Amino acid sequence: MTNVEQATDFDGAAHPAPLVDPFGRAITYLRVSVTDRCDFRCVYCMSENMSFLPKADVLSLEELDRLCSAFVAKGVRKLRLTGGEPLVRRGIMTLFGSLSRHLAAGALDELTVTTNGSQLTKYAAELVSHGVKRINVSLDTLDPDKFRAITRWGELDNVLAGIAAAKAAGLAVKINAVALKGVNEDELGDLVAWAHGRGMDLTLIEVMPLGDIGEGRLEQYLPLSMVRARLAERYTLEEIDYRTGGPARYVRVKETGGRLGFITPLTHNFCESCNRVRVTCTGTLFMCLGQEDAADLRTPLRASESDETLHAAIGEAISRKPKGHDFVIDRRHRRPALARHMSVTGG
Ligand code: SAM
Repeated sequence: MTNVEQATDFDGAAHPAPLVDPFGRAITYLRVSVTDRCDFRCVYCMSENMSFLPKADVLSLEELDRLCSAFVAKGVRKLRLTGGEPLVRRGIMTLFGSLSRHLAAGALDELTVTTNGSQLTKYAAELVSHGVKRINVSLDTLDPDKFRAITRWGELDNVLAGIAAAKAAGLAVKINAVALKGVNEDELGDLVAWAHGRGMDLTLIEVMPLGDIGEGRLEQYLPLSMVRARLAERYTLEEIDYRTGGPARYVRVKETGGRLGFITPLTHNFCESCNRVRVTCTGTLFMCLGQEDAADLRTPLRASESDETLHAAIGEAISRKPKGHDFVIDRRHRRPALARHMSVTGG
C-alpha cells in the first residue's frame, strides 16, 4: 500500500473534531506552498538573485498529500496550492490527482490553485480532470514591456494564452493584480474592463511588506482606498455581499456587470473572520500570514508513518493562532515587517 492509500484509509476516521482557534474561528481553509521556486521574479515578491531551498528540506509529493489530508481530516474544506509557482513543481499533477479523492469523498469542497499562468496551456485540461473548478491567475498589467519589467522573466503572451486555455477548458478564472504605485496604477481601470469583458472577476491587492526585495516598499505602496476612489470616477461601484471565504471585499461594477475585489491588509484589517492557515513547502505551518510564530510539521510527518503526532502538532499549533497581524508600511518602518518572502509562505 502506498502512503497515499494509507492516508485515504485514515481520513476522517480518527479526528473528526474541527480545528477551532482560541478566538472561536473554525479553520476550514488551508493554503499550501508546494515549492519556493518560480519561473518569474516579480519585483515586489522576490529579489533577482534568490537562493532556493535544498531539495531534502522540501516535502515530497507524498508528504504534501499526507499533510493536506491530515488537515482535511481535521475539517479543512478548501485547499489552495500555491508557491513559488505551483505548476513548475515536477509531478504536481500527481498531487492534484491524489488530493482529488477528497473532493470525490465529499470531505473537501474545493481544490484550487494560484498561479502566474505560465504553465496553463500545458495543464489547464488536467486541472479540470482533477476536479479543479476555479483558479486564480496573477496578472498585474496588460502591457508586454511593463509585464516584463514587473516579472523580470515573464512573457505576457504566454500568460494570456494560458488564461485562454484555462477558460477553454472550463475553468472559472479570477485575476489577481497587485496595485503598484507609478507602475500599473494608471491601467487598473482598463484591467477591470479587460477582465470583466472576458467573464473574469478581478481582485486588487495591496503590496504587503514581506521579505527583503532590495527595493523600497514605500515606492511601491499604493493604498487601495486611493485606487477605489479613482475607479469610482470611471465606474459605478455597488456594494455586494459576495464572499469567497477569502479576505477580499467585493463590489459589482455596474457598467461591466463584473465583480471587483479589494484585498487591503494595510488600510483595512480583515483578521476577525480569518479562517485560514498556511503551510510552506518545508512543512512549516504559519498560523498568520503577518506573524512570525510557526509550527514545524515536517518533523512529526517524517518521524512516523502514523499520523497521530502530526494531528497533535496541528492541534497544538492552532491553539496558538494569533488574533491578527500588524503590517506597517511607513517612513519609520522601511525594513520589511517580516523577513520571509511571499514566495515562501505562499500568496
Ligand atoms: N506564482 C503564483 C502566482 O503568481 O500567483 C503563486 C504565488 S504568488 C506569491 C501569489 C500572489 O502573491 C501573487 O498574486 C503575487 O502577486 C502576490 N504577491 C507576492 N508578493 C506580494 C507582496 N509583497 N504583496 C502583495 N502581494 C504579493
